[in-house]
Amino acid sequence: MFSLDGKVALITGGNGGIGLGMAQGLARAGARVVIAARNAQKSAEAVASLQALGSDSFALEADVTNEASVATLFAQVAERCGRLDILINNAGTTVRKPVDQLALDEWNQVMDTNLTSAFLCCRAAHPLMKQAGGGKVINIGSMMSIFGAPYAPAYGASKGGIVQLTRAMAASWAADQIQVNAILPGWIATDLTQAAREQVPGLNERVIARTAAGRWGQPADLAGTAVFLASAASDFVTGTAIPVDGGYSIAA
Ligand code: NDP
Repeated sequence: MFSLDGKVALITGGNGGIGLGMAQGLARAGARVVIAARNAQKSAEAVASLQALGSDSFALEADVTNEASVATLFAQVAERCGRLDILINNAGTTVRKPVDQLALDEWNQVMDTNLTSAFLCCRAAHPLMKQAGGGKVINIGSMMSIFGAPYAPAYGASKGGIVQLTRAMAASWAADQIQVNAILPGWIATDLTQAAREQVPGLNERVIARTAAGRWGQPADLAGTAVFLASAASDFVTGTAIPVDGGYSIAA
């Protein structure tokens, strides 16, 4: 039920952090994992870790904010793999500033990377998934899909938007046997949050205090939910946004 044998999975930003944690989970479940990111050196190291797990994995250089780059990416996946079964829209970034200090190009950079990229990738994936007889899309939201923070206006808007985009696509593509869901990670130790720990005073202590599990999450904590949402086990699950947060979002 959870096997991904014979399935091809594309993960944007899969060369580190949460993306690589999910990629390793999918590889262990049998998927051929394709990583799409900009940093070729980081991607090569990630691919080596996936190949060590037995996945016939490879990386493609792509900028998911760029429509032409996304088109090339999906054409290359189609050519090299002949199919696409699973898409994880994970690439993400942030600019930590209050709204009154945020420049328009900073707003656009965050929205393009976190939200518009998911639209572009899903639109490009749809014909390939239809051709494969169905598929699975997993969009990465955040606790900022639910909560607001003064330092994350564009990030929060993009992550709220990704949940609504998930619902719209789930409704559109259910008839094509394509399920579309979101994962909302809690606070996970990655490069992105290392910067936040340095820039936001007291954040580390607040995260540990509020997370019922009493710790930061690790990228590997996302692997199980990703495998579930990528596999036949979730064929009647669509349009959801599942927190994977050690209990952060249920704290009073
Ligand atoms: P990282 O900074 O470790 O990973 C971000 C990834 O996105 C990198 O692999 C980067 O690769 C890729 N990326 C960024 N911009 C682009 C682009 N234009 N084109 C292609 N790839 C791009 O952060 P995380 O692992 O923490 O974040 C992954 C996702 O999880 C993000 O969507 C983030 O918002 C979300 N998230 C993270 C949380 C956390 O606590 N860490 C909590 C909730 C959500 P490269 O630079 O090589 O292009």
